[in-house]
Amino acid sequence: MTDPISNIEGDIHVNGTLSCDGDLIIDGQLKGQLSVKGNLTITKIGNVSANTEAAKLTVAGNSMCSKNITLLGDAAHPMVPFLGQGGCMAIEDAYTFAILSGELDCDFNKVQPLYEKIRLQRNNRIQSASMLQGKLNHIKNPIAAFTRNLLMSHTLLLAMRTSKIWNYNVDEEISKALS
Ligand SMILES: Cc1cc2nc3c(=O)[nH]c(=O)nc-3n(C[C@H](O)[C@H](O)[C@H](O)COP(=O)(O)OP(=O)(O)OC[C@H]3O[C@@H](n4cnc5c(N)ncnc54)[C@H](O)[C@@H]3O)c2cc1C
Repeated sequence: MTDPISNIEGDIHVNGTLSCDGDLIIDGQLKGQLSVKGNLTITKIGNVSANTEAAKLTVAGNSMCSKNITLLGDAAHPMVPFLGQGGCMAIEDAYTFAILSGELDCDFNKVQPLYEKIRLQRNNRIQSASMLQGKLNHIKNPIAAFTRNLLMSHTLLLAMRTSKIWNYNVDEEISKALS
């Protein structure tokens, strides 16, 4: 392969090893052996059965359901632990799916899109916020760290951040989606 390809739309089936020096974004399915020096982003849930090696693997959350498969918890949205919310999101996912399944008599053609509508944005937000929190926690510059500590101890920044997480009412979101 001579032409550089950075974005492939569709499925990739690799017989040998596919190596990529930069970042690779796959909008489809992936099978085979993959070695990426940069970031690997898989933007849709597909058949990720490859042996992957990458600087950072992101299975971007634009879908939690595919055919008769419904993902929840870490399988749908792995997250870094800096807000301590991975398990909470898994519980919210499970609760939402269970309530919807009950309300809609297990008609999964109806349950899946509603489940995704309710959970996707919430999970993506918490995933991004956790990532940001990790960066804030690991600030190396002493002046920036001092400023961060000052802001966290003497302003309502922390309370504002956590209230957005904790004030979420899953029952309200389910009722809104069902109405
Ligand atoms: C260091 C650390 C600290 C954390 N702190 C917090 C916290 O304070 N608060 C919080 O809310 N979350 C926290 N989390 C995140 C939380 O632990 C996870 O988000 C949560 O456990 C995800 O639940 P899950 O059910 O999706 O996946 P898991 O808990 O990973 O459950 C998946 C299960 O599937 C099983 N399994 C895997 N493959 C197969 C297979 N092929 N067949 C059968 N079974 C299989 C596994 O053995 C496992 O039991 C933390 C995580 C880490 C790593």
